[in-house]
Amino acid sequence: MTTTIDATLARRVNRGSGENAYKCYQCKKCSTGCPVAGFGDLHPAQIMRAVQLGAVEAAVDSRFIWLCTGCETCTTRCPQGIDIAAIMDELRMIAREEHRVRSDAPFANILKLNYDSFRRWGRLYEVELLALDKATRLSSLTDDVVMGIRMFLKGKINPLPTFGDRAQMKRMTDVADRINRDKRAVSRAMDLPDTASLPPASPGGVR
Ligand code: SF4
Ligand code: SF4
Repeated sequence: MTTTIDATLARRVNRGSGENAYKCYQCKKCSTGCPVAGFGDLHPAQIMRAVQLGAVEAAVDSRFIWLCTGCETCTTRCPQGIDIAAIMDELRMIAREEHRVRSDAPFANILKLNYDSFRRWGRLYEVELLALDKATRLSSLTDDVVMGIRMFLKGKINPLPTFGDRAQMKRMTDVADRINRDKRAVSRAMDLPDTASLPPASPGGVR
């Protein structure tokens, strides 16, 4: 029996990443190689299934997408050649655009602060990063304080910013943003249909 489903989420993921989630046949090789698969609410193959099913709450609201380190092990293991890491990236972008970033995903906050810090200083300014992170997550105020003091005493943290090539960093991030925009525009041209048929799961999968 063929199941027809709403492909809205898969289309959106396809626009941003250029990847077709419907190529996934649930062999689970991505999940078995993923270093953080055991720490989230879902694992990569389940995220792929959620995208196929158009289950926004499961995929975009998942804690797992913020645990993903972008190591690309899943991408290299996928027998279907799907860039799963790019799909995780895209889901994070959708979460941001839709204001659906989970409040219990501190990594989400840090990622944005990292990006802003690189643009502002041309390199990472740890003290500012730490201060802004704590300011936006007051409940975490006491976390890491002892370690921070130890690192400071050992000279591992510089209290003053050291400047990198800020103009070059801005050029790099501008180019990266433009590439992302162009990628979205190109993939719009090879859009998926409104509905899709779910491919059958791989018998038994690979564990
Ligand atoms: S490895 Fe590829 S085909 Fe297999 S479950 Fe993961 S995404 Fe799907
Ligand atoms: S890129 Fe993310 S999902 Fe893929 S293996 Fe690495 S941590 Fe897991």
